[in-house]
Amino acid sequence: MLGPPGAGKGTQAARFARSRQVPHISTGEVLRREREKDPELDRQARATMDAGRLVDDDVVIGIVRRRLAQPDTRDGFVLDGFPRTLMQAEALDHLLDDGVPLVVVDIEVPEETLIERLRARRVCARCGAPATAALTTCGACGGPLIPRSDDDDRVVQERLRVYAEQTQPIVEFYRRRPTFRSVDGDQPQDAVAADISSAVAAVLGVQ
Ligand SMILES: [Zn+2]
Repeated sequence: MLGPPGAGKGTQAARFARSRQVPHISTGEVLRREREKDPELDRQARATMDAGRLVDDDVVIGIVRRRLAQPDTRDGFVLDGFPRTLMQAEALDHLLDDGVPLVVVDIEVPEETLIERLRARRVCARCGAPATAALTTCGACGGPLIPRSDDDDRVVQERLRVYAEQTQPIVEFYRRRPTFRSVDGDQPQDAVAADISSAVAAVLGVQ
């Protein structure tokens, strides 16, 4: 699943994976877990992400390769946060067995909407649950909400610039394939989810 920061990609990927009962592979989450075990990787990744940049291709490709080797991916999986660069997209083609269809869904959202959404993102200071500026306290634990460390204005602009420079070319890389679909992400969450579901069904043939 592709889409710029703030497109709702993580939420939609989780939702789609649940509905199809396949694993949701968020490279951001896997990377966070690996960082907890490896202080040096943690230090490097923190410096990179705090600057709004992307973690090294080799690190991310290694993570995805190990994850796709797990038996639970046999009947399918949803990739979220990968590929983010052309090199990662090419590596993914090599990681997949011949004949496995790679359905690519791109969630499209206008830049002004993305900036508004990213500015409104909050995270619970106590439990880490995601929230928005529309709330005053955490819905899960009642804790105080703070802006995400990677969401201040300068970092938001940098993330969108990095997206346009490194990730947008991936959309072009996939666009000509018959398995590519783009979905309007500037509508309510349920409508986006329904569009994703029918886009995938159309590619795979109704299942
Ligand atoms: Zn909380």
